[in-house]
Amino acid sequence: LLEARGLYKSFGDRTVLRGVSLELAAGEVVAVIGASGSGKSTLLRCLNLLEPIDDGQILLGGEDISDPRVGANRVRARFGAVFQSFNLFPHLSVLDNVTLASRVVHRMPRAEAEAKAMGLLDRVGLTGLARSHPDRLSGGQQQRAAIVRAIATDPEILLLDEITSALDPELVGEVLELVAQLAAEGSTILMATHEMAFARDVAHRVLFLDDGVVLEQGTPTEVFGAPREPRTREFLARFT
Ligand code: ATP
Ligand code: MG
Repeated sequence: LLEARGLYKSFGDRTVLRGVSLELAAGEVVAVIGASGSGKSTLLRCLNLLEPIDDGQILLGGEDISDPRVGANRVRARFGAVFQSFNLFPHLSVLDNVTLASRVVHRMPRAEAEAKAMGLLDRVGLTGLARSHPDRLSGGQQQRAAIVRAIATDPEILLLDEITSALDPELVGEVLELVAQLAAEGSTILMATHEMAFARDVAHRVLFLDDGVVLEQGTPTEVFGAPREPRTREFLARFT
């Protein structure tokens, strides 16, 4: 479904991605792990065209979306993205946050968008907070609302960038639980995460990014159980 070939990205004289290639099949859940600064967020942002790449190619459903003639907004609408924090618009209710893209980008009638949004919010236990503004929600509730907003437009791929790392530990579980449900339902997910136990349990494949290079990838059993590269072993040792 998604394929990146030899992505390069620099900020000034700092090269952050040095020839990253990856594939994401429909229904696959891939975890990107790696040290802070290894380029995980940059990779995710390049894939949905939030950052321009310097070299390489990105194919989405066979279409070369890295071609500069491709409309970035149209491509971004095919992804759902959730970041570490500040996902929701503070001046909009939870319901308006969730329906915004459906109404504005996908031109869905308000009643239809709201009916769908309420169904999704009900599923994650946020019905009662639909009319509230984000600042009335806990961090975990905000991230669940942000995930609902990301899936409200039925995106082809969900990009999740360390969506639990700004949360208090007791709120992490409820957010990961929702991601695990989406994964079990067959959503296609690429997630940068520091939650190694979660990656091991939920991801089909794990990709270790080291200084802008995919140093190692494989099943969770392979990467966590028997890492081949000394750098991977060194990184994983910090989590045990
Ligand atoms: P973390 O685990 O801390 O989230 P990361 O793996 O997501 O780290 P990135 O955020 O992709 O890492 O950053 C990789 C490198 O690129 C860092 O050195 C960072 O300072 C640099 N960088 C990222 N975005 C920019 C930017 N907009 N301008 C300049 N440098 C940037
Ligand atoms: Mg990051």
